Amino acid sequence: KDLLRMEGVTKIFVTDEMETHALSNIQLSIKTGEWVAIVGPSGSGKSTLLGILGLLDSPSKGTYLLNEEAVSGLSPSQLAYVRNRHIGFIFQSFNLIGDLTVYENVELPLIYRGMPPAERKQRVEAALERVGVSHRARHMPGQLSGGQQQRVAVARAVAGEPLLLLADEPTGNLDSRNGQMVMDLLRQLHESGSTICMVTHDIAQARQASRTISLFDGRIVEDQPRA
Ligand code: ADP
Ligand code: ADP
Repeated sequence: KDLLRMEGVTKIFVTDEMETHALSNIQLSIKTGEWVAIVGPSGSGKSTLLGILGLLDSPSKGTYLLNEEAVSGLSPSQLAYVRNRHIGFIFQSFNLIGDLTVYENVELPLIYRGMPPAERKQRVEAALERVGVSHRARHMPGQLSGGQQQRVAVARAVAGEPLLLLADEPTGNLDSRNGQMVMDLLRQLHESGSTICMVTHDIAQARQASRTISLFDGRIVEDQPRA
């Protein structure tokens, strides 16, 4: 079953008298359980595509269906609700909140969602356990290494069991050992059924995904299952 579908998605940025077609007529279906790598040169539209997939931005034209719901017509508050409930984000720069503990960082999206405290506690503890940072629950993010911070960010992204996990260059700020650790976490999530879209410029990393979509100049120029 398709978890999401894009039809004719176009994104045009207008600045001064310039129009940039960041995405042109994107047709894309992603099924539940796929692990998709989005690759392409700088400026090819990868971040714009991820932003639309994650409901952070909306298309200029075309339709986007997530879980069989057309999200194009939703109001900003409806979009925020769907985003919070169904999408988990992992960023290159971790984006943890510096004055909250590791535990509180993972708990916060669940609070926004209105989850009862007992269920929150169980979810946060399970997520920290899953990524191997339970022993750092009371630390502040600044007391952790980069690899540990990204583990926490993965825990935060998956604690709510999102339909879709989005990762924007998730290993970009990590050394190769920690980068592979994050890739191993993504593989485990994929094997347990998560649907993942990840932007990367690392071809070796893209090969670890189950499908690679190549963008060039705002268009999909290649769409390949893993060899
Ligand atoms: P990538 O992630 O592959 O590097 P982007 O999606 O960031 O590519 O950008 C695609 C194109 O859209 C580029 O030409 C970029 O300059 C342009 N672009 C992206 N965001 C904006 C914006 N907010 N305003 C104007 N142009 C933008
Ligand atoms: P990892 O296994 O994630 O690479 P490291 O080997 O880099 O972790 O770090 C080992 C220990 O050093 C960790 O317990 C971490 O909390 C601590 N540590 C690493 N970097 C920092 C830092 N910049 N500030 C404080 N503590 C750090």
